[in-house]
Amino acid sequence: MVASTHTPMMQQYLRIKADHPETLLFYRMGDFYELFFNDAKKAAQLLDISLTKRGQSAGEPIPMAGVPYHAAENYLGRLLRMGESVAICEQIGDPATSKGPVERKVVRVLTPGTLSDEALLDTHSENLLVAVSCPHQHYGIAALDLSSGRFSVSEHETVEQAYAELERLQPAELLVPEQASFGALLQRGGLIKTPVRRRPEWEFDSTTAAQLLTRQFATKDLTGFGLSNANAAIAAAGAVIHYVKATQQSSLPHIQSIQFEHRDDAIVMDAATRKNLELTQNLAGGVEHTLAAVVDKTVTAMGSRLLKRWLHQPLRSHSMINQRLDAVNWLRAENQAESVQEALKAVGDMQRILARIALQSARPRDLTRLRQALQQVPGIKSVLAPSCMHFLRNDLADFNQVVDLLQRAVIENPPVVIRDGGVLAAGYHSELDELRELSQGATDQLEALAERERKRSGIANLKVGYNRVHGFYIETSRQADVPADYQRRQTLKNAERYIIPELKSFEDKVLRSQSQALALEKKLYHELLAQLLPEVADLQRCADALAQLDVLSGFALHSEAEQYCRPQLDDGVGIDITDGRHPVVEYYADTPFIANDLHIGDSRRLNIITGPNMGGKSTFMRQAALITLLAHVGCFVPATQARIGRIERIFTRIGASDELASGRSTFMVEMTETANILNNANPYSLVLMDEIGRGTSTYDGLSLAWACAQSLALDCKSLTLFATHYFEITDLAERLPATVNLHVDATEHDDTVAFLHHVKPGAANRSFGLQVARLAGVPAAVIAKAKAKLTELESSAPAAQADLFAHQDTAAPMSNEPDPRAQQALNLLDALQALDTDDCTARQALDLLYQWKALYN
Ligand code: ADP
Repeated sequence: MVASTHTPMMQQYLRIKADHPETLLFYRMGDFYELFFNDAKKAAQLLDISLTKRGQSAGEPIPMAGVPYHAAENYLGRLLRMGESVAICEQIGDPATSKGPVERKVVRVLTPGTLSDEALLDTHSENLLVAVSCPHQHYGIAALDLSSGRFSVSEHETVEQAYAELERLQPAELLVPEQASFGALLQRGGLIKTPVRRRPEWEFDSTTAAQLLTRQFATKDLTGFGLSNANAAIAAAGAVIHYVKATQQSSLPHIQSIQFEHRDDAIVMDAATRKNLELTQNLAGGVEHTLAAVVDKTVTAMGSRLLKRWLHQPLRSHSMINQRLDAVNWLRAENQAESVQEALKAVGDMQRILARIALQSARPRDLTRLRQALQQVPGIKSVLAPSCMHFLRNDLADFNQVVDLLQRAVIENPPVVIRDGGVLAAGYHSELDELRELSQGATDQLEALAERERKRSGIANLKVGYNRVHGFYIETSRQADVPADYQRRQTLKNAERYIIPELKSFEDKVLRSQSQALALEKKLYHELLAQLLPEVADLQRCADALAQLDVLSGFALHSEAEQYCRPQLDDGVGIDITDGRHPVVEYYADTPFIANDLHIGDSRRLNIITGPNMGGKSTFMRQAALITLLAHVGCFVPATQARIGRIERIFTRIGASDELASGRSTFMVEMTETANILNNANPYSLVLMDEIGRGTSTYDGLSLAWACAQSLALDCKSLTLFATHYFEITDLAERLPATVNLHVDATEHDDTVAFLHHVKPGAANRSFGLQVARLAGVPAAVIAKAKAKLTELESSAPAAQADLFAHQDTAAPMSNEPDPRAQQALNLLDALQALDTDDCTARQALDLLYQWKALYN
C-alpha cells in the first residue's frame, strides 16, 4: 500500500500501525478509539460491533470499527481475555494548534500477560507473563507477575518437567523464540488456550539478557541470584524484560530481583498430580470443592493469591516450614488471628497498588487505599511484637513519612481519575491553592454580579449560567424587559440568554485559573507518584509480609475451626497419621467423616487397598497426599497426630481422566502417566495408584496392575498406596517385601450395604460386588443366584487364574460405553445364570466375574 495515496491522517495511522503489526491498534479520534483495515474486521468479529467504512484506499473504502472512549475498558477486557493484545494510540498534540492531523502516539500496549489495571485483572489469581528458552536441549522458564513485581526462573532437563512447570504456572501469555520448535510442549492440553507470542531470537540471547538483567537490578552480575551459569534461565528472563519494556514503555522499578527456583526446593508434582489432587482447580475446571476453596480463609486478594502459590509449591526445607507452623501455632494459641485479619481487611490489595505506583499509572484511590493500608501497619506490628514472627516483623517497617505525605497530598475521598482534578488536598501546594481560590473567587464574584443585575433590571428570576458553546450568560424568561446593554446570544423555548462585556472578562479569568489549576494539579499528581518511587521496594516487602500474615492467620482460624493438628516433620522414612481426615470431603459432608490411620514406611512401603466401590479407597489415598502437602505448606492438618518423614515427590495416577483436547486416548494417558511414575519414583516418593489397568480389557488390565505394583515395590521402593479391584493383586503381600493389604469396610444389614469407610488391615471380602449390585437396584432373586454361582466359580478360580495369564492376548475388550451400571449388571448376571456349570470353562465364567467386579468393586 502506498502511503501517499492516503489522507494525511491515514498516513499517520499507517506509520504507527507499522510498528505494531501483530497488535490491534486502538487509534484515538475524538471520543472514539477507531480500528481500521484488518484490525477493524477482527475487532468487529470478536467484539460483535459494527463494521463501517471510511474514505478510500486504492479506490476501496477502508474498513473501520470503533468503540467509545468512555466504554473502552470493557472492550479491552474482552479482547485481552480472548488472548489479544491492544496498542492504545492517544492524541498527544493540541487539536487547536496543530496543522494537519493531531500528533498521536502509542502510549501503552496491553497484553494478557502484562496487565496492571485493576479493572482488567482477576483479583484472586496471579497473572503471569512466562518465557521459555531451550538453548541446549534443556529448558529455561521465567515467570513475571507484573502486578506484584515477583520474578522467578527455573531450569528443566526434560520436556515433561518443563510442561509440569508451565502447567503449574498457568501463564496468561507465553513468549517463545521465533525459530524454536516447541510443538511437543505447546500442544499439550493444559497449554492449548495460552496465547503464545513468537519473539525474535536475539531477545533470548543469554549475553544480552544478562546485561539487561544486571541493568534492571543495578547489580554487577547475576551471581547474587545464583544465576551465574544458568544460561537457559537467564535467556528466558531477558526475553521477559524485553517484552515488558516494549509494552509498558516505562521503567520497572518494582522489579528488583529474581528468584532462582530449584526443583529440589519444593516437593515435585507433575501436571497430572496437581490436577488429580484438585489443589486450586477441580477436575471439571472450576474452583469449587478444591483444597484452596477449603483452606483459603484469607481476607486480602494478595493473601489469596499467595496461598494458591504455596499450595502448588510445598516446601522441602523443614526450617522454613516450621517457621510457618510456629506462626500458625502462635496466632492460634494467642487468639490473635482474628484481630490481625480485621486490620488486614483495611490493607486490601497493597501489592497491586504498589505495582501501579511503580508503573506510574496509579489512580487517586490507589493512593488513599495505600494510605489506609499503611495506617494499619503499626497496629499489626505491635500485635506481633511478642510473637515468634521475626521473619515478618522485620519487613513491617514504619512508613510514617509516606503516610504523612499521602495525608497532606490527597483528600479523603478523591474521584476515580485525576482527569477533572479535585484530588489534591488544600494546603498541599500553595500555588495550587491560589489558583483554586482565584477560580473559586471568580465564581463568588459571578454570584455577586447576578445579584447586582437582578437589582438593576428588576428581573427576579435572572440568573447566570454557563455552557460549553456560549460560555457564561445571563438568562431571563422570554418576556423579561432587559437593560439596553444586554446582547442577545441565544433564544430558547422559555428563556433568553444574554451577555455583557463584564461577564466575558469574568469568563476568561475563571477559565484561565481553572485550567491552570487543573494543569498544575495533574503535574503535581505525577510528581507525587514519582516521589513514592524510591519507597516502592520497601513497601513491597511490607506488602509481601502482610500477605503471608494473611495466609498464616487464615490457617490458624481454619485449623482451630476444623480441629486440625500441628504436623511433626522429620528426616525419617514414611508417614504416620492418626485419625486422618480428607480436608475437602470432610468440609462439605453432611454426615460425620470417618477418620482413618495411615502407617506407611520402611516395613510397609506398598499398601494394596481393596474393597467395594464407593467404600472410600480414593478418599483415603487422596487424604494421605493432601495431609502430606498441607504439612509442607506450613498448615496444620486434619488429624489428631501426624508425623511426616522425608518426602521429595508426590505422584498420582487416579481415575480415567480424559485429555480429549490433546487427542490422546484415556488408555494412552493412563499408560504415559504410569510410565512417568515408574521411571521417576524413588524411596522418598509418595505414590497413589488408583485402579490402574481400568482403561483396557480385564486380563491386560490385571497383568498391567500386577507388573506396576511389583515394580513400585521392588524397583522404586516408593511409599505407595495402590487401590485395585483385582483381588489377585492382594497375593502380592505374600510375595513382595514390605507389602501389606488394607481394605475398606462395609457391612450388610437388612439387605442393604452400609459403607463404614473404615480402613482395616488385610484384603477385602470378595463378595461385595453383589451387595453393591443390590444397592444399584438389582432384584434380590438375581442376587441370590449370583451368590451361588460365585461360590461355584471361586472354587475353580485358581485354575482359571493361571489360565488367565496364559491367554492375555485373546481377552475380550471391555465396553467403553458409559452405560447405566445397573443395566450392565443385569446383563452380566443374566449371562452368569445362562452359563451351565457343567458345560462352561472356568475361564468363561471368570471373565464374566471380572467384568462384574470391574463394574462394582
Ligand atoms: P472408592 O474409591 O472406594 O470408590 P470413594 O473414596 O470415592 O470410594 O468414596 C465414595 C464416597 O464415600 C465419597 O464421595 C465420600 O462421600 C464417602 N466417603 C469416603 N470416605 C469417607 C470417610 N472416611 N468418611 C465419610 N465418608 C467417606
